[in-house]
Amino acid sequence: MSKMQSVNPATLKVSGEVDTTDPSEVPGIIEGCRKAQGEWIDMPKRMRLACMDRLLDIIVDRADEIAATIHADTGKPRSECHSTEILTAIGMTKYARSLLKDFKFKERIKQGPMSMMCTFMGRRSYIEYQPYGVVAVISSYNFPIAIPFTETVMAVAAGNAVIIKPSSDTPLCGDLIQSIFEEAGFPKGLVRSVSGPGLGSAITSSDVDKIAFTGGTDTGIEVMKSAADKLVPVILELGGKDAMIVMEDADVPRAANGATWASFVNSGQVCVSIKRIYVQREVYDSFLRMYIERVRGLKQGNGWDDPDISVGPMINERELNRMTQICDEITSQGGRIVLGGRVNPNLDGYFFEPTVVTDLPVDAPVVSKEIFGPIVCVFPFDTEEEAIRLANDNPFALAGSVWTSDLERGRRIASRLRSGTIDVNNAVYTYGLPATPWGGRGMSGIGTTHALEGFRQMMHPHHIHIDKGGSRRDPWWMPYNKADSELIEDLGGAFFARRGGIVSCATRFLRTRKRE
Ligand code: NDP
Repeated sequence: MSKMQSVNPATLKVSGEVDTTDPSEVPGIIEGCRKAQGEWIDMPKRMRLACMDRLLDIIVDRADEIAATIHADTGKPRSECHSTEILTAIGMTKYARSLLKDFKFKERIKQGPMSMMCTFMGRRSYIEYQPYGVVAVISSYNFPIAIPFTETVMAVAAGNAVIIKPSSDTPLCGDLIQSIFEEAGFPKGLVRSVSGPGLGSAITSSDVDKIAFTGGTDTGIEVMKSAADKLVPVILELGGKDAMIVMEDADVPRAANGATWASFVNSGQVCVSIKRIYVQREVYDSFLRMYIERVRGLKQGNGWDDPDISVGPMINERELNRMTQICDEITSQGGRIVLGGRVNPNLDGYFFEPTVVTDLPVDAPVVSKEIFGPIVCVFPFDTEEEAIRLANDNPFALAGSVWTSDLERGRRIASRLRSGTIDVNNAVYTYGLPATPWGGRGMSGIGTTHALEGFRQMMHPHHIHIDKGGSRRDPWWMPYNKADSELIEDLGGAFFARRGGIVSCATRFLRTRKRE
């Protein structure tokens, strides 16, 4: 069996290896997942809850080992391994457990304006939320535990099996997720991680029942095209180009602190990291001065043993080189690099210096392009309307933020920004709030993870309609006749209380029944 290595981009040392899977093995693995899903869904709920409890215990007890694996795959600072990954996994596991315990997987529902008629006719509707079966979780490299783990735990709590395809840059984390689920006592094969070349497309063209994909927009489009062949439903969590709007009444030091974290956490390799900062002209100079001062003070390097290191590496050499090319693009389009803009010459790993850009025209082509790294552009604006227009003038619509001391104004602006999530006076961190929805619009994707919406998207709403069968035929059944036709014509008015009336319809219906 061939192996795939993981390289720690902070040290450039091989940090481990995993067995690879050949694309031809995918159908058999999915078959195994399907079998395990049958066992899982047949287990009494208390046993499934006990598995979730053990899962939680393992993550908490083995947090340091999990953090070390995240670091081995990504080189990110130890504190980020805990803050952005493990805390997120713990929160989501607790939340998914609560949904498994309390969610009404079967519930009676009303039928809308026809409810009264249905009740009268002895008819009931129920929804059974049924798991899809086997969900494919295909993930990006930037949060190799937080993202695939949260999607997996929600899918499993909803009753599915999961085949995980981690990024080829982070295979150790994929295997770790599988082993944690196995250790927690979930049926063997319920959660399978597979690594190797060409596996993404082998999975999207396979017999999986749902795809939860996180990655670049171009790849997401390929995934959707492939899934379309079998009409497999997809959730696509794709790229972003998040705007931060700083109003003149904002707490500028706090905004500068927030921007520093939200633009350079994970070295800017975050779908929702701040990439465009629009600052009202009255506070532009003071914000920029404070922001640059704070960013200049950030220590970069291998943050595993040194807790003062804030900025880690890019994931690989290709992404590192891409940052240099983007800086060239920015300067050729009129931007001025006021900080950073180069590979860190003092470090051996794939480190790109935190980079701040000014003077870029707001309509420069690079403003509409995702930059998945530590490069941030700052622009001045004059009016609220202008800020909203600039923030919305982008193909991506994932998240964003407004900074103001007037919360009413913050809410007003937030509701006019096109996106999945908008924070007022904060940014980025709501991925760690499991009961709040996550998902973008436009080129940032479709569908939702997290929250009740995300949980429901892991299940099919199976509608069961029960008729006690009290009448021999319904008035709209064949053969048609004059009396039934008139009754049906009156029904429309009765439902919307304009003409006719429920009572007269009911009386006529009873008469029809007698005739039968
Ligand atoms: P990629 O799109 O390069 O890869 C994502 C995953 O898709 C990887 O596992 C990759 O495998 C796999 N893949 C590649 N080609 C195909 C294919 N044809 N069919 C199916 N799967 C395929 O993304 P990155 O890993 O570079 O991640 C960065 C991107 O992810 C950014 O654009 C970022 O904004 C986005 N992202 C979005 C989030 C959101 O919530 N909206 C969250 C986090 C990131 P392999 O590695 O083997 O190529």
